[in-house]
Amino acid sequence: MNNNFSLSHRKEEPEKGILYIVGTPIGNLNDISQRALNILSNVTLVACEDTRQTKKIMSKFNISNKLISFNKHNSSIKITKMVKDLKEGKSMAIVSDAGMPGICDPGEDIVKGAKIEGINIICIPGACAAITALVSSGIPSSSFVFEGFLPKKQIDREKILLEISKNEKTTIIYESPKRLKKLLNELKEFCGGDREIMVARELTKKFEEHVGNNINDVVEFFREKDIIGEITIVLKGIKKRDLNLDKFIMKKDLQDLINAGLSLSAASKYLAKKNGLKKSEIYNLI
Ligand code: SAM
Repeated sequence: MNNNFSLSHRKEEPEKGILYIVGTPIGNLNDISQRALNILSNVTLVACEDTRQTKKIMSKFNISNKLISFNKHNSSIKITKMVKDLKEGKSMAIVSDAGMPGICDPGEDIVKGAKIEGINIICIPGACAAITALVSSGIPSSSFVFEGFLPKKQIDREKILLEISKNEKTTIIYESPKRLKKLLNELKEFCGGDREIMVARELTKKFEEHVGNNINDVVEFFREKDIIGEITIVLKGIKKRDLNLDKFIMKKDLQDLINAGLSLSAASKYLAKKNGLKKSEIYNLI
């Protein structure tokens, strides 16, 4: 795989043989960048998830260029042809219906396939619902986990929900409006109703809405509503355990148990089991 190359961005014309990953708006068409418009106008062809969606952007900005469809149903067939075109010196852009290709959208496979074939990739960054929701949530953004859509199969879903509930990092989840209530109730069950959350609906669009503050409030807010539009959820991580406080409490518990007549060994064994620690770790407290 070829990972090393350099390029001058002084000349903004698309370069031959390069695959451009172009971010497009997640609702408000004015969020498209000048570089994105330039690339979409001047590459040899634009591969898009749905030509009807991409035509909306193209026609708003008076761009006419050759479009080909590229989606999860035809990707394996299209990749070979796209790589061949790139090797023959064509330039190409990939766009998804909205936001960044590759983020819960087609794009990842073609980038992987193209890189294996030695094709150079340039990303023209654009809006992404996950990042837009995160930075407007007020929930810690320096370290986070992006889950995308949770699995539908209940056993897989519960496994991820359990992981999310224990994670100290912020979690970002995509969800469809028709499944939002179910997911909020699951988050309440696994994380407790007090956990901070923000549900961002219709980001960048006319009826943009941010709903918080904790899971209880959000469940209540949506309870009687018919939910429509696009949804991204930002969930605060679990509070970091204060190890000094834990030690202080365990030491006190140990003393109480000994005062109540238990031997040091029995009290340590009991506390070790209760706190998921080794007996020696409890001994070390005193
Ligand atoms: N590639 C896109 C990106 O970069 O964000 C995501 C595509 S994924 C198929 C679509 C999901 O993204 C939606 O179901 C929703 O969860 C989220 N999403 C997209 N646009 C949104 C918006 N305007 N407001 C809130 N969430 C949005």
